[in-house]
Amino acid sequence: MDFFDELIAQLKKEAGKKNSFAADPNVWENFINPNSKKTTEPATHSVAVSPAMEQTAPNPVSAFDFDAMTKNILECRSCPLAKVRKNPAVSYGSRNAKLMIVIENPSLLDDEENRIFSGEVGTLLDKMLLAMGLKREDTYITSIVKCRTPGNRPVTEDELKSCRERFFDNEVSAVRPECILAFGAGFAKNILHREGTISNLRGSFDSYDGIPVMSTFNPAYLLRQPSAKKTVWGDLQMVMKALGLK
Ligand code: SF4
Repeated sequence: MDFFDELIAQLKKEAGKKNSFAADPNVWENFINPNSKKTTEPATHSVAVSPAMEQTAPNPVSAFDFDAMTKNILECRSCPLAKVRKNPAVSYGSRNAKLMIVIENPSLLDDEENRIFSGEVGTLLDKMLLAMGLKREDTYITSIVKCRTPGNRPVTEDELKSCRERFFDNEVSAVRPECILAFGAGFAKNILHREGTISNLRGSFDSYDGIPVMSTFNPAYLLRQPSAKKTVWGDLQMVMKALGLK
C-alpha cells in the first residue's frame, strides 16, 4: 500500500471518525517509527479533512487583480517559451490561502492537461495534502515560470527574470501566505540563490520576504522513488507546525 494511503488510513482509524482525523503527533511518530510505540493521547487539536484554511486578517494586497493576471499569462509571449508551450500554467486555489505550493515550471503533461499537478503527480499531491488535513483548494498552487521548457530542461535566467517579474513576485505579494511549500530545488536555487541538490536543501526552513519556505522532493520524484515519501512526510509535518496544524 502507498505510504500516504496507509498514513491516512491510520490517522482516520486513530480519530475514529469519518471525514476528520486528529493531528496527533504520536500517531505520526508511531507510523514513522513503529518501534517507538509512543502512547496516543487524546487529541488536543483536531484537523478536519477540509478545514477553512483561509486567513482571517484582511489581505494587504486584496486589490490585486488575479483575473487580469490570468488573462495576461494566457496571452503572454514575452519570452521564447511561448513558442514551445501549448497551455501556460494558470495558478489556482484559494487566493487567501495560508499555504502556497510552488513548482519551478509546468511539466509536459501539465502543459497538455492545462493544469499544474495533473495526472498521477496530482493524485499523489492530493494524498499528501489529505494527510496534512488539507485539500488542494485550501492552498494556492502556482509555478515560478508559467510555461514548460523543451524536454523539461532547466529554465534560463532570462526566462526566469521575464516571468517572475511579470507574475510570480506579484502573486506572492498578493497572497502573502504564512508558509511556502516548494517542490523541487527550483525555488531555493532561482529565488533564494542557494546551491545544492534538493537532498541538501530540504528539511529546514528558508525565509523569503519573511515567509518560511520549505523545499522538499517533488511528487513527480516520489513516484519514481517511493522510499523518499517518509522523508517528505517529515518535511510536511514541519510545514503543518508552521501553520499551526500540529
Ligand atoms: S514563460 Fe512566462 S514570460 Fe515566458 S511566455 Fe510564458 S508566461 Fe510569458
